[in-house]
Amino acid sequence: MSVYTLVIHGGAGTILKKDMTDEKENAYRKGLEEALNVGYSLLEKGKSAVEAILAATISLEDNILFNAGKGSVFGKDGKHEMDASIMDGNTLMAGSVAAVKDVRNPVELAYTIMKKSQHVMLNGSGALEFAKLHGLNIENDNYFFSQFRYDQWKEMQGSDEAALDHNVLVKDNSTFTKATEDNKKFGTVGAAAMDMHGNIAAATSTGGMTNKMYGRVGDSPIIGAGTYANNKTCAISCTGHGEPFIRAVTAYDVSCLMEYKGLSLEEAMNIVVHEKLIKIDGEGGMIGVDAKGNTAMIFNSEGMYRAVRTSKGENEISIYK
Ligand code: ASP
Repeated sequence: MSVYTLVIHGGAGTILKKDMTDEKENAYRKGLEEALNVGYSLLEKGKSAVEAILAATISLEDNILFNAGKGSVFGKDGKHEMDASIMDGNTLMAGSVAAVKDVRNPVELAYTIMKKSQHVMLNGSGALEFAKLHGLNIENDNYFFSQFRYDQWKEMQGSDEAALDHNVLVKDNSTFTKATEDNKKFGTVGAAAMDMHGNIAAATSTGGMTNKMYGRVGDSPIIGAGTYANNKTCAISCTGHGEPFIRAVTAYDVSCLMEYKGLSLEEAMNIVVHEKLIKIDGEGGMIGVDAKGNTAMIFNSEGMYRAVRTSKGENEISIYK
């Protein structure tokens, strides 16, 4: 029997049961389930891992709860700039977009860059122009607006701080302290899959960090940091504080530990997330599949929105540790 597998995430951070209402938790679970359904049904039909992760990531981008596409966080200038990437482990082709505005589905733009340009990465106005040229959906700023992300940003506006949307810092007598319950919002999204032909792929999409500088680029669009896929080893999508993830070349490091040291996916991810990232204050996590269809979802934060479904019968949606 051919094996296929889909694993997704909706961001990692200070996600605690005590801060969650049943209603909120159900909404997040529903969002993850919808994305799993969309991507997994493609795998069942024999479609490629790339098609499955693209569809699953678009579903999460379209859900206002997650910090990607609709519902992206606000930057320092009150605008939404989004990052996304995708990589095909079979061909080692990749596409990526950084600091783009107004594109409804940044991961679709990353995919289009991979398929229809001679480049890997486009940013800013050039990326937007390329999206228009290829007929992708463009929205005005209001489409991306969500009241809760706006409120998060308002708490930080005027400061030089930037925060993970999961751990938004709030002003407390002019010093910045940990998030209040209402300000803990979660988000960046990603997917990794193996299809029935044995190919693997990964994608990541994000609005980045609240109150980030105009032009700031996180790990999500950087191939090797936020996303990596190689049929020899693994397909990985990361979420967390982008700067340490870039410095640790996180996703590629997992692949290297597997390729050069012979570690399993889970062993490699544990070393990167629980040892290497911790040493440089890299809060967050990652999801991945290996070339045999094994999956892992590892994080060093309080929680990570995550879900997995496999042809071997695994079917799990989880949030907390
Ligand atoms: N990694 C993303 C960034 O730094 C944020 C996240 O994963 O929530 O832009």
